[in-house]
Amino acid sequence: MNFKQAHFEISAPTLSACPANSLAEVAFAGRSNAGKSSAINAITGNARLARTSKTPGRTQLINFFAVAENRYLVDLPGYGYAKVALSVRDKWQLELEQYLRRRETLVGLILLSDIRHPLKEFDQMMIDWSLQAELPIHVLLTKSDKLKRGAAQNALLSARALLQKNSGASVQLFSSVSGVGIDQAREKLEDWLLGEARIDAQSVSAK
Ligand code: GDP
Repeated sequence: MNFKQAHFEISAPTLSACPANSLAEVAFAGRSNAGKSSAINAITGNARLARTSKTPGRTQLINFFAVAENRYLVDLPGYGYAKVALSVRDKWQLELEQYLRRRETLVGLILLSDIRHPLKEFDQMMIDWSLQAELPIHVLLTKSDKLKRGAAQNALLSARALLQKNSGASVQLFSSVSGVGIDQAREKLEDWLLGEARIDAQSVSAK
């Protein structure tokens, strides 16, 4: 899969406006400022694909980036700061939950969590919703360059132990600055996005 060919497809304000031609998509979620836009840009090798914004909580649309025919990376709105009015937040929470629960072509959730204060309330909420939707979760501990190697490894082990207990999610280190974990994240995405297609191809060639 050539992530460098990723391009912006559409912004959907609601679940019903999401593209109908999707065969598989992976959603990216994270508290504002977790490094989600930077991660999407690093993974696709396109520095301007997802806007990196200095204004927390500005992205209020579900953004679709095509990475292959009918296959998408989906940038979910990040929030976590009280800057947005509560009514807006509630509405978004509802929309997000609907998307995670009802979107049939959604095959996995990439959850981005800052390695310096990982798996806080917002993350747990996303994990709970994904579990209810029986959606596999893969956590990126972002900005791993901010910690020394040993401390980063310790954070990884603690997060892994916690996740194994509460959700079975997988987890890895990630830094869009140092490049740590970019290839590993791409492998996970390929696995998820091409999983069904691979199985189909195998069963065809076995016939
Ligand atoms: P988003 O709100 O989750 O989309 O976060 P952004 O991608 O806009 O990043 C938020 C801030 O963290 C920006 O100032 C980025 O430059 C910084 N940042 C993002 N990723 C990294 C990283 O891997 N390492 C470091 N040191 N800073 C990062």
